[in-house]
Amino acid sequence: MTRYGFLGLGIMGKAMAANLLAGGLEVTVWNRTTEKCAPLAALGARIGNSPAEVVADCDITFAMVSDPAAAAALFFGEGGVLEGIVPGKAYVDISTVDPTTSLEIARAVNAEGGRFLEAPVSGSKKPAEDGTLVFLCSGDESLFHEAKPALDLMGKKSFYFDKPGQGAEMKLVINMIMGTMMTAFAEGLTLGDKAGLGMADILDVLTQGAIDNPMFRLKGPQMASGNFTPAFPLKHMQKDMRLALELGDKFGQPLFTAAAANNLYLKSRQAGNGDEDFSTVFQAIAGN
Ligand code: NAP
Repeated sequence: MTRYGFLGLGIMGKAMAANLLAGGLEVTVWNRTTEKCAPLAALGARIGNSPAEVVADCDITFAMVSDPAAAAALFFGEGGVLEGIVPGKAYVDISTVDPTTSLEIARAVNAEGGRFLEAPVSGSKKPAEDGTLVFLCSGDESLFHEAKPALDLMGKKSFYFDKPGQGAEMKLVINMIMGTMMTAFAEGLTLGDKAGLGMADILDVLTQGAIDNPMFRLKGPQMASGNFTPAFPLKHMQKDMRLALELGDKFGQPLFTAAAANNLYLKSRQAGNGDEDFSTVFQAIAGN
């Protein structure tokens, strides 16, 4: 039976690892802050002592950590993933990172005879809990097919893109669109509110037109009631905007609205709201 590892049990990783366990898979988990392993152990997971040990004990190891610096530290650091990679080992990084970080990790895995797949996800806390994420993969195609039964327990659809780095690029494009949609939405709600239009009426009218979408439907009522409990922490949204802008730079593509949105997320981070949901950018816009 294939043995799976899961590194990084934050908002997303916790729910995803739980779905692997619910699907009857054998899973060993590790998290930098050890206490976060306990709820998974209660569901039947083994707990590893280090990323290297998890990789050494498992056939396919998934990782879901914050950002490029975390992904690199997890992989290259002391007791990190690289120390556990030998021929036959497979490593799947689900974290949202830039293509350069992903390619560096891929090269290091391949140099040790292992296989690597980048597999960032579209979808947030609820889809992670429901097993309805969308995987955006590139890298080793044989590993994509081998990991597919596990991906299917965590997601509803998995895309494979031929060129290494394209999974990361697709994820950044998608989140850049989402990030700018959120700031436009928050500006509209703020303007409408200042004009004396009821928030509930604005949200109701929006549902009837061409710009109706699941994000406005989910986040609108929460924003109107001042509920910014994190599903997607704002610090990660700002990281994704920054990485998308870097990608724009690389291709010489101006990204005017994304740059403006990034500044709003930065302002919100500066105000100390990085750990709140990314919709809290509404407060930065409204001046609250
Ligand atoms: P989160 O709740 O903040 O969890 C971050 C995880 O990364 C934690 O397990 C944390 O460990 C770990 N970590 C951070 N720095 C580390 C380091 N240097 N070494 C080892 N582990 C480290 O974040 P999340 O919402 O689950 O997001 C995880 C990734 O998925 C991010 O790349 C994010 O952009 C992406 N993503 C998130 C969503 C969403 O809606 N939340 C959706 C799609 C993609 P500790 O517990 O020790 O801090």
